[in-house]
Amino acid sequence: MRSVLALLVLLAGAAVADNSAWPGGIARIDLGPASGSAPTVYLDDRRVLVANQDGRWLAIVGVHLDTPVGTAAIALADGTRHDFDITAHAYREQHLEVAPGYVSLSEENLARVGRERKIIDAALNHWRDTPMDDIRLQNPVDGPRSSSFGSRRFFNGEARSPHSGMDIAANAGTEILAPLDGIVAAVGDYYFNGNTVILDHGQGFITLYCHLSRIDVDEGQDIAAGATLGLVGATGRVTGAHLHFGTYLNGNAVDPALLLGAGDE
Ligand SMILES: [Zn+2]
Repeated sequence: MRSVLALLVLLAGAAVADNSAWPGGIARIDLGPASGSAPTVYLDDRRVLVANQDGRWLAIVGVHLDTPVGTAAIALADGTRHDFDITAHAYREQHLEVAPGYVSLSEENLARVGRERKIIDAALNHWRDTPMDDIRLQNPVDGPRSSSFGSRRFFNGEARSPHSGMDIAANAGTEILAPLDGIVAAVGDYYFNGNTVILDHGQGFITLYCHLSRIDVDEGQDIAAGATLGLVGATGRVTGAHLHFGTYLNGNAVDPALLLGAGDE
């Protein structure tokens, strides 16, 4: 009995305490006692989130899915570097069938995707100075979660980018709730993502909601955790109604499962 309890305690703490420094994971690097102002930290040229956790500064680093296994480093504004190890992580393959227009794009749609990519990238890379102590998220919708983050994807047999989020199955019309306080960084109807909301939680921590049937928020709006963002739908490149939920740190997509509590798998 005691060992079962110990295991439960271990699992409950795992989402926050664990270092998941693998491609698509999150590296947590202790930068010492949290005295004075937070250190300014970069990975490559991008600012990194620094949280005050239990009186210590903790760099919370999103690791890009293409990062090679080996040693990586963050740089502090004072010139110091902190090395950290990137470990291997296995992802699956996923084969999907969609309408042909989502695999071979017309010239017009290619141009549209290019324009939208700039807007989406700007929102996903937005920086806002906000004190952070916790980056745990509430579930945006309840429902079975796919564990397909990072999967190498083939649409109608053709290789495309790896899956950069988590798909949560829910009926069309289910309310999507903000998992944490934030500001709406962008809303739009995009070719691949359909009706989309992007939330900025501060310090480069961004969340993305795609394929909505309806959007209930406006760009620039302040959002409290639990507020309704819109409704689950099947807009954009989908095989059916679901929420595509993306989470980003320092511009890199990380596995949302590392930030959420337990759910129905
Ligand atoms: Zn998805």
